[in-house]
Amino acid sequence: MSEPIVRFENVSKRFGETVVMRDFDLDIAPNEKLAVIGPSGSGKSTLLRLLMTLEQPDGGVIYVKGEPLHHMWKNGRLVSADQKHLRKVRSHISMVFQHFHLFPHMTAIGNVIEGPIHVLGMKRAEAVARAEELLDMVGLADKKGSHPSQLSGGQQQRVAIARALAMQPDVMLFDEVTSALDPELVGEVLNAIRKIGREQDITMILVTHEMGFAKEFADRVIFIEGGRIVEQGPGAQVLSEPRNERTQAFLRAVL
Ligand code: ADP
Ligand code: MG
Repeated sequence: MSEPIVRFENVSKRFGETVVMRDFDLDIAPNEKLAVIGPSGSGKSTLLRLLMTLEQPDGGVIYVKGEPLHHMWKNGRLVSADQKHLRKVRSHISMVFQHFHLFPHMTAIGNVIEGPIHVLGMKRAEAVARAEELLDMVGLADKKGSHPSQLSGGQQQRVAIARALAMQPDVMLFDEVTSALDPELVGEVLNAIRKIGREQDITMILVTHEMGFAKEFADRVIFIEGGRIVEQGPGAQVLSEPRNERTQAFLRAVL
């Protein structure tokens, strides 16, 4: 593999007594589209939340473009890194959640320009021009003036995707972004993700229950259980001809 854009090295994470990850290793290549599947409670969201720095690891190091993402642990002690440096490393990553978390009092375009203006320091006119392109890309050019309450769940989720992209990340994280949607709205969100994958140089990590989508879209599928990678490979192998009996049991239960 080329130099990984994301590396989990020996990462451990627990919540109280619950060990979610132990000695977890994972390398993700630049531009890779990685699907993460596994049962409820297996640590999928924790994996993404660690990368988004919404959680801190208890041990090990996560690197993004070769730089540690968190304050590092050495011999059980927290070693501080420069805040400015951490902010820079973290700015490479954006996340889209199951529940869209849009700002309800802002229009679609208002949601998309907020971060670029206030976090990236982009000029308003530039942020607006880019936001219009992004809303167009997710098929919402005509909804830019709508408030979230005036949009369907699928439309709100596409605004959330445009908003995440507007931060110009190298890595996009998607945590079950279609799970809260009515079935007829799932396709439009998956289409937006497909389009971004095709048109942008971007690494994507998707936690999903959409097995058909994972198989067709992802370069690699990993099945995790108990915070461990049980099986991984191309979707056609892991999802259609799983070798591990845990993967087989999981797929029998969900398909
Ligand atoms: P998944 O996304 O695969 O369903 P999670 O990563 O959300 O799994 O959770 C993994 C395990 O960690 C579960 O047992 C869950 O209950 C526990 N967990 C996750 N977040 C917290 C938290 N903030 N506090 C306590 N336990 C948590
Ligand atoms: Mg989850």
